[in-house]
Amino acid sequence: MNSDKKIIIAIDGYSSSGKSTMARHLAKTIGYRYIDSGAMYRAVTLAAMRAGLVSRDMAPSSEAIAAILPGLSIDFEVVADGQNTMLNGENVEKDIRSLEVSSCVSPVAAIPEVRHALVDMQRLMGESKGIVMDGRDIGTVVFPAAEMKVFCDASAEKRASRRYKELTEKGAQVTYNEVLE
Ligand code: C5P
Repeated sequence: MNSDKKIIIAIDGYSSSGKSTMARHLAKTIGYRYIDSGAMYRAVTLAAMRAGLVSRDMAPSSEAIAAILPGLSIDFEVVADGQNTMLNGENVEKDIRSLEVSSCVSPVAAIPEVRHALVDMQRLMGESKGIVMDGRDIGTVVFPAAEMKVFCDASAEKRASRRYKELTEKGAQVTYNEVLE
């Protein structure tokens, strides 16, 4: 690829279809920056959990979470074996992958103020081009004019086995059939 002409590559797809793995490998291969949009939603969720604004037993309040957004800075630090998600300068890569964050992220990501703030941040990250970004709304909402768009899909069985592995490695008590269903 001509390095003078950097582009935006948007990778969308169904959950557990392998989009982040593909996006990460692609970015590494062509020397682009990989932006994990899901990690950004996870980082906001972690900040909200730490502020006591959401938990497994407590639905988030949009107003309270909107109020903490201006104080959050989210970035990625490239390291030898991948990258770390940084929340206000702190490496939260491990914390954002916890089962607790996974179970709270969907309602937080559904808050319009959260979506607006993160979409703005993602567009800013894309200004210098040369990025691969993955997530369900990247090719449609964030970068509708991305020069390259990829949509990932895989069989239900493949997606279920990937999800099952992810969940059980974190200690979740689920069966493969439950995940498949
Ligand atoms: O991809 P990952 O599982 O890390 O994403 C975590 C959650 O963040 C998703 O389940 C979804 O609720 C939210 N998300 C989103 N929009 C994106 C990426 C992730 O709403 N572009």
